[in-house]
Amino acid sequence: MFGEVIQRDFSRFKNPRNIVNLCFIVVFIFSTVLTWREAVVLEGAYVANQRNSLDNVATLLDRQLQHNIDNLLFYRNTMFYALQSPISTDRTRKSLAEFDLLRTEAFWQLRLDLNRSLPVNGVSDEFVNSNPLLDRNDQTVHTELSSALELSYIMRLSDRSRTLPQRIFYASRSGFFLTNTPSANDPKIISLYQRLISQPYFSSQSPQNNPSRALRWTHTFDANSTTGQIITAAIPLDFNGRWYGILAFDYPIDSLHDFLQQAKYDDHEGTVLLYDNELNPIATSAQQLPKHELFTAPQLAQIASVVTAAKPGEQGELRMDSRFITWAKLNNFDGLLVKVHTLEEGVQGEFGRISIVLSVLWMLFTLMLVVSWIVIRRLVNNMFSLQKTLTWRANYDTLTRLYNRGAFFEIAQKLSQECKQQAQPFSVIQMDLDLFKSINDRFGHNSGDKVLAHAAAMLSDAFRQGDVAGRVGGEEFCIVLPDTTLEEAVKVAERIRVRINTKDLLLKQGNITRISASFGVSSAQEFNDYDFERLQSHADHRLYKAKQDGRNRVCSHD
Ligand code: GH3
Ligand code: MG
Ligand code: MG
Repeated sequence: MFGEVIQRDFSRFKNPRNIVNLCFIVVFIFSTVLTWREAVVLEGAYVANQRNSLDNVATLLDRQLQHNIDNLLFYRNTMFYALQSPISTDRTRKSLAEFDLLRTEAFWQLRLDLNRSLPVNGVSDEFVNSNPLLDRNDQTVHTELSSALELSYIMRLSDRSRTLPQRIFYASRSGFFLTNTPSANDPKIISLYQRLISQPYFSSQSPQNNPSRALRWTHTFDANSTTGQIITAAIPLDFNGRWYGILAFDYPIDSLHDFLQQAKYDDHEGTVLLYDNELNPIATSAQQLPKHELFTAPQLAQIASVVTAAKPGEQGELRMDSRFITWAKLNNFDGLLVKVHTLEEGVQGEFGRISIVLSVLWMLFTLMLVVSWIVIRRLVNNMFSLQKTLTWRANYDTLTRLYNRGAFFEIAQKLSQECKQQAQPFSVIQMDLDLFKSINDRFGHNSGDKVLAHAAAMLSDAFRQGDVAGRVGGEEFCIVLPDTTLEEAVKVAERIRVRINTKDLLLKQGNITRISASFGVSSAQEFNDYDFERLQSHADHRLYKAKQDGRNRVCSHD
């Protein structure tokens, strides 16, 4: 049972049409899988490329920031050691004495060496006393000032020509400050100091506000900067349980813009944005920060949910609408770099072009595959119908649509042997149209053909299912009747004879004629011989007798 099912299914595939379909489906699937695999590899390379290009920018920025943070820590250490063991020279003693004289002035400036140090700028005792955050402690202020004067030598050496322009400063709670961007000894000192201590980067460094005493980044407004904004990194200076002030450096936002613009090397590479830890955009590699929000609130929430869990230095990617987003959390900044690559930029880029070529190649290949499938299917169908026609023509007579002589003899011999094996009767009827030559002579060959076709139709209508008829000569027909006795065969022959003879036939030019046929019948039982050819010869002999007896009759005896 199971074997039969398999055989049936298998034989279905022997059909060339199914084999052609199967081959094309296999080639189509194979080419699609290959293209898909290429696309997956390409996508992997694209993601790696996006990550790498953002990683380059992040590493560059981190390295730059690391350099500045290291400097800041170095300055803090300098202050720390100086506070621990202050150097007392004639110059410092002179400067401290000067401070004692100037401390009540609205503003003042101290400087150890005009060429090698930076000035320490200060405000009055009164100013300090008016602000609860400030404290000019008489016990510590001299040590702190001499430490700041020491730091002023080192800070003077700071290199301001690096990629990111910066301001470095020490703002003391004792009413003075030191910066690598020195100013003149004028009333501006008061407003500068006022601004330094009123900014969040100062107030947020009090022991209450920053218990961990870690470095903090703040994003503040600065009227001196073109964009009006600066980014500041600040660390507190503590010694012997006292908060002395802050050491800090800052960047104008413009310098971060410039940095990102220089770090981007290709127009199709997308836009890099620097976000603070609250996901506010700070700087961009584009000409300016986008006017509209780049991300919707839910998208920002999605980025936040991924990014908050990430550690500094970690990277990741997200897909949003048609944009590919790569992000990198910076090691040395309280924020992250985000790279937005739009589909449009992607298409214009190298990977986009390769993807388009790949898709077009796949489409062309598929198109060619479909066209060749149609052509081959048509060829196979034509071949099938040709084969069918040839097979039919090899076995049938085209005029009468009965078996031709060769095919008929083969079938008749097979049937006679089957009847012999099953000990069944078997009969043969031989039929010849009467005076057919005269029809040809009178009405022409075409009319003769028409009569032949008509006689064959009459014959086919009259014999029973299981009987087989064939055209064995010009106007001679033979019928084999399995499981039929001589008497029954005679009845069949008689029926055919009557049918042929009772129907008028309209020939060309309105000529009506009626034809007749003579029959010879023989059977295997009477001769005890199942050999078809011999039985046909007997029937033919009896047909000849029927002709002699006057035609239009059935003869079944010698
Ligand atoms: P009878 O058998 O009654 O003695 O007379 P008959 O005229 O039928 O005699 P015969 O068998 O000699 O003639 C057969 C004729 O059939 C000869 C031939 O011209 C014609 N014939 C044979 N095959 C075809 C055919 O395919 N088409 C046409 N139109 N005529 C054919
Ligand atoms: Mg004849
Ligand atoms: Mg004849």
